[in-house]
Amino acid sequence: MDYERIIVFGAHPDDELRMAPAMAKMAAEGTQVVAVIFTDGCEGYPDPSMRDTIVATRAKESDAACEVLGIDKYVNLGAPDMGLENTKAMLKKVIKVIREVRPQAIFTHGENERHRDHIATHELSLEASWHAGEPVAAELGEFWKTPHIYYYKNTKMDGPAVLYDATDYAHIVPAVYATQGSQHVLFQRTKESYLAEVERVKANPPSTVSRFILHPWTTLREFPPVS
Ligand SMILES: [Zn+2]
Repeated sequence: MDYERIIVFGAHPDDELRMAPAMAKMAAEGTQVVAVIFTDGCEGYPDPSMRDTIVATRAKESDAACEVLGIDKYVNLGAPDMGLENTKAMLKKVIKVIREVRPQAIFTHGENERHRDHIATHELSLEASWHAGEPVAAELGEFWKTPHIYYYKNTKMDGPAVLYDATDYAHIVPAVYATQGSQHVLFQRTKESYLAEVERVKANPPSTVSRFILHPWTTLREFPPVS
């Protein structure tokens, strides 16, 4: 995980938090971490009174998450929640962001997803990773082939994986979920309970190991031998 730059793709604001401790650790160790979120999260409201403000609320929550994680930035591609489609226009947006960031590794959703936006995120991120490295659509930036591609979400699948220990950053999990106030009804939690958990976890951190499945384009030969 000794990368200079990585991209973490998420379908909705908060999907990326599945790898929050790993993102925080990599950022602290000098990796430029860019979270790229496909949708605006406009359907993630549990109460009708939140409908007109939910997008702005979630944008602010992403800003707060960015600060807690200590990562470089969030980019939101602005597709409508529950309406992300694998279109040419969206594919070009993703190619452009990959060519701008020039990551050595991309982390995205696995393939066995249920939510339509998650399925589209999986497809678009992989397809764009490939296209970004091809000599095509040159107006979208200088070609960039991303060497390593991983799945960080929906990783209940077989295949070679990298295990990444971020136990020192275990407290980032409750700390960052505390910033996602609009989703607390969904998570059946309160901000206060998350903040109390931060202190408990700091005092006694549980083993926190991310399992990143290697996409078949990434081969084990590219890694140093396991001792
Ligand atoms: Zn999602």
